[in-house]
Amino acid sequence: MSADGVVLVLNAGSSSLKVAAFEGERRMLRCVIEGIGTKPSARAQGAAGEALTGPVLDPAPATPSEALSALLGWIDERLGGRPLSAIGHRVVHGGLDHAGPVLMTPALLAELEALLPMAPLHQPHNLGPIRVMLASAPELPQVACFDTAFHRTVPEAEQAFALPLAMFRRGIRRFGFHGLSYDFIASALPALSPRLAEGRTVVAHLGNGASACALRGGVSVATTMGFTALDGLPMGTRCGALDAGGVLHLLNQEGMTVDAVQDLLYRRSGVLGLSDGFSSDFRDLLASNTPEAAFAVDVFCRRVAQQICTLAGALGGLDGIVFTAGVGENAAEIRARIVGQLAWLGLELSEAANKRNAPRIAGGRSKVEILVIPTDEEAVIARQVREVRMQVGHARLMGRH
Ligand code: ADP
Repeated sequence: MSADGVVLVLNAGSSSLKVAAFEGERRMLRCVIEGIGTKPSARAQGAAGEALTGPVLDPAPATPSEALSALLGWIDERLGGRPLSAIGHRVVHGGLDHAGPVLMTPALLAELEALLPMAPLHQPHNLGPIRVMLASAPELPQVACFDTAFHRTVPEAEQAFALPLAMFRRGIRRFGFHGLSYDFIASALPALSPRLAEGRTVVAHLGNGASACALRGGVSVATTMGFTALDGLPMGTRCGALDAGGVLHLLNQEGMTVDAVQDLLYRRSGVLGLSDGFSSDFRDLLASNTPEAAFAVDVFCRRVAQQICTLAGALGGLDGIVFTAGVGENAAEIRARIVGQLAWLGLELSEAANKRNAPRIAGGRSKVEILVIPTDEEAVIARQVREVRMQVGHARLMGRH
């Protein structure tokens, strides 16, 4: 398999499908289909970020896999019939065995299907398009790129919950997620700040899903998400860290069913729940002057600041923090509140730079660098596909000699 040609990147969620096409490092186009299952709509951009007419969604797709066929026709047209040479898929959970991207096979698909209970709201959607493509284009190389893989470097003592050791051994442990985003940030740091690339950096990925990661020399050594993508920071609709006793109480004393608790923790909690059901979107929360919206923002900022301290503890100090993802890249007020709570660690913000969403937002007297870096998970997936293809090509070459 050669390393040239057009690589398609697929990121399938519960109600969305994000797609990008790359030629080497160049992004040729991207398309986001949202509202799948309710009111699907598509947005598309060309290589220079210009708006394109997206695919026609008729009949309306009910699942991301159904959206895929409409999308493949559209991409084929846009690429002028140039064939795809490989597909890279975002897969949330790679389990214990995958510390990097892997070439998809039917056996690997079965292995990843066994992980469905560990990422019930993400993994089924990630695997749907893989199954479709393995069946419809078995000759096309497909690569699974895992959100967990980047964190396989975390020391075992950081991965462990204080449960019986046998459970740790069989995989009830902190895996961590958002690894493709952290991989992007780690690979962007050398050019932006050699000190942070080599030193102790906490990255706060604050989007709909939110987590933070401690990097030492660009390698993950601790992270806030856990066995599932529910742990750690409060999120748009997910609860973040929670006393397990609270869950037992809901089940045993309040008589909630397991399904109802799952729905509560994944879909009705986080800042949506804290704002009394008002919104999971920080733009709405920041624009509102209700006490409930203010309360949700307050809890969120406190937890993020506290978790950054915990991760600084795991690193034994802090050289810099990086804000990324939708909230981290755009919400100056949220960054200011978080940094304000970290002043005792020597952080100081340049208000003007922060308001501009500038790449460097630390004030002149800050002991800690503070960066804003837009993340790009698609670019990481495309790069990982190239790496796997080169490895496979190399192995074939070696086999021939
Ligand atoms: P996902 O986890 O779905 O990839 P993103 O990283 O795209 O999410 O983040 C989406 C969230 O970012 C939105 O729900 C919204 O709360 C937040 N966001 C985006 N732009 C802004 C902004 N200008 N101000 C505040 N929050 C924003």
